[in-house]
Amino acid sequence: MIGDTIAAISTPPGEGGIGIVRISGPEAIDITNKIFKPAKNKRWYKQNYKLNYGYIHDPDNSQIIDEVLVGIMRAPFSYTKEDVIEINCHGGMLPLRKTLELVLKKGARLAEPGEFTKRAFLNGRLDLIQAESIIDIIRANTEDSMRLAIGQLSGGLSKKINEIQQQLLLIISIIEANIDFPEDDVDQYNLIEIKQRVELLEQEINNLLDYAETGRIYREGLRTVIIGKPNVGKSSLLNVLSKVNRAIVTNIPGTTRDLIEEVINIGGVPIKIIDTAGIRETEDIIEKIGVQKTKESIQNADLVILVFDAQVGFDFIDNQIVELVKHKKGIKVINKIDVIKNKNEFNTKQKVRNLLPHWPLIDISALEEKGIDKLKNEIVSIITGGKVIPQDNIMISNIRHKNQLVKAVNYLKDVQNGILQGIAIDVLAIDIRGAWEAVGEITGTAVNENIIDKIFSEFCIGK
Ligand code: GDP
Repeated sequence: MIGDTIAAISTPPGEGGIGIVRISGPEAIDITNKIFKPAKNKRWYKQNYKLNYGYIHDPDNSQIIDEVLVGIMRAPFSYTKEDVIEINCHGGMLPLRKTLELVLKKGARLAEPGEFTKRAFLNGRLDLIQAESIIDIIRANTEDSMRLAIGQLSGGLSKKINEIQQQLLLIISIIEANIDFPEDDVDQYNLIEIKQRVELLEQEINNLLDYAETGRIYREGLRTVIIGKPNVGKSSLLNVLSKVNRAIVTNIPGTTRDLIEEVINIGGVPIKIIDTAGIRETEDIIEKIGVQKTKESIQNADLVILVFDAQVGFDFIDNQIVELVKHKKGIKVINKIDVIKNKNEFNTKQKVRNLLPHWPLIDISALEEKGIDKLKNEIVSIITGGKVIPQDNIMISNIRHKNQLVKAVNYLKDVQNGILQGIAIDVLAIDIRGAWEAVGEITGTAVNENIIDKIFSEFCIGK
């Protein structure tokens, strides 16, 4: 248990039917008792998991703050494994803030972002994978992303990671037996066994890593940039894809100055589409900033949708844009095919076909919504490469987990090379321990405080 008692408003700011002030720690019940007037039972805190009706009042001036329901979850059967009180107030900023102020005045400390979940982790109720999956559930954009996060919360991935760690421990114990009894004649046999086990384990980790990129996209969304010269129809395409009129559509070149980001759901994959300011030589400062941002967003993109204009045709600006994006994964789109009456006059296609030949080419009309489904299918297949979330939902999706597994694989490679080069067995043990620690940082069995602080700082206050 961690000494002090923390409190925060756990519901989002703004108006709502109810809002919740959450308190956790050894003084949660005492503090609540000082400010809560139950309507009936004065010894309301005796019964666990009960909602108690009454009033929050300021004992110093007897002022009633709000009519509330107070929930009680006693340690260790609560989210944090500490005594937890949840005060259900009316969902306005004033009753919530006043209630929180009273709770703080009576001895609680304002919780840091993610501190409730951090306590759940430190008190052993969740491991790090599960704690991180809670942010993922809160932030999930599609049902598939949520299914993946729930799968991680329920412990499937943790189990897999623990198994890998157990196997590493087993190898360590085999090595240690060797170090302890060097005179025994079993070295050679053990080395073969160690090598086989390490190889198998490396394979197992690589199987997880194979899906990490797809998992990351389900978790974070696919960063997609729509790019093309002004007026080719980028904003119109974004609008059709998202079916929400967020981007401003206009026929004055250069009016989409800032980057507009929209998350849409294509086949269960969250796609974060960034509509960019058009690339164009310009004296306009604001637009220049927009162009600079465009270049940055190309750098960060997983996928580029490069739009050409069938009506205006292909020109040198298109060529300059191609130069900017040619190193990325992408799809070529020819827009406004509705205006092409005589297909023979249509020279754009011929030119575009020869550019970036490894990128697929799709004809669309954003105006008439033609070719949009084909484009959506192409987006999904390029990125997931046909990989879907496995039935058991065991999939790496967090870049932190991926990096740790890559570290572990590198240690295992060092072990295998070491065995081939006849390196002393106690040196091999150091690398295996390195792998064990790298994997342990994923669930938090081996992890330092800085990493823990960094993970929980990404949470919102009250979680
Ligand atoms: P952006 O500058 O690339 O974002 O282009 P906009 O989306 O603002 O579109 C510029 C102009 O082209 C607008 O007048 C749109 O109505 C028009 N436009 C966009 N898509 C199509 C299309 O598929 N067909 C036709 N005929 N016009 C389109």
